[in-house]
Amino acid sequence: MRYARSVADLVGNTPLVQLTRVTDGIAATVLAKVEYFNPGSSSKDRIARNIIDAAERDGLLKPGGTIVEPTSGNTGVGLALVALERGYRMIFVVPDKFAGEKVAVLKAYGAEVVVTDTNVPPEDPRSYYSVSDRLALEIPGAFKPNQFANQNGPRGHYESTGPEIWRDTEGRVTHFVAGVGTGGTITGTGRYLREAGDVTIVGVDPVGSIYSGGDIHGYKIEGVGEDFWPETFDPAVVHAWERVDDAEAFAMTRRLAREEGLLVGGSSGMAVVGALRVARELPADAVVVVLLPDHGRGYLSKIYDDDWMQANGFDISTEGHSA
Ligand code: PMP
Repeated sequence: MRYARSVADLVGNTPLVQLTRVTDGIAATVLAKVEYFNPGSSSKDRIARNIIDAAERDGLLKPGGTIVEPTSGNTGVGLALVALERGYRMIFVVPDKFAGEKVAVLKAYGAEVVVTDTNVPPEDPRSYYSVSDRLALEIPGAFKPNQFANQNGPRGHYESTGPEIWRDTEGRVTHFVAGVGTGGTITGTGRYLREAGDVTIVGVDPVGSIYSGGDIHGYKIEGVGEDFWPETFDPAVVHAWERVDDAEAFAMTRRLAREEGLLVGGSSGMAVVGALRVARELPADAVVVVLLPDHGRGYLSKIYDDDWMQANGFDISTEGHSA
């Protein structure tokens, strides 16, 4: 019989699919690594499994323990999958700007969710960082994965995402493009690919985030960009940056669903905008791999909702309706 022993064993080995419709006029091959094929529907399953495995090995997480983490949702889902398998209690701290559906998903997995104010600085006691720190101190047997500092996050990508891309492209990948949140994806995957061959690593950053320079201000793309430099991000891995604004990212996100059949989140649209800018300048033998971090179902009431788009000033009047 061929079966997995638990859902946690289904993490990784996501497929590459060629983008054929949004790549009009581009000679290079553009391949999307579709991370929503992970059991928790995002790339974060990879770091969750690796972080919990390491915490158990290091004695930081013991039977009956509690996992406390500030997370916008995807990391929480990944942690929940693994925690359920192993019997840990879960408490997730979520800033209120994040989609209601994401919180509902965490609760559906049986997690406790604490919602905090987005509009306070990280050092404020009401911030999601501070609240999770306090809970991790107060609750006996609590372990805080701390996805912004835990090196087992990037290591998870070094050991899985990178080798998968190298294997599946038979070493022909020339460019790897990914959005940067904690930086774990680009740091781990990029490091592996740079060691494996001559691969150019391109980071994609929302306008308003710290990584690619310019003014730091709010933006609506979720899961990427930061207003501080996390320890999980090694900027030396990145050869070049692309900056993408909310409007471009969301327009592409909607095109990916309608034209490619890929219902993905806004950070995926953002990454594809960056990848296409890079690919446009490349010859036919180039192979660009762009990572699509999560599924679009968590954004149905936002990016995929016409009223929400218009209420937030995004123009959808010029969108094509392909036959
Ligand atoms: N997109 C989404 C939707 C995410 O949740 C994350 C993780 N924060 C990212 C992109 C960025 O990945 P990383 O943290 O590995 O840089």
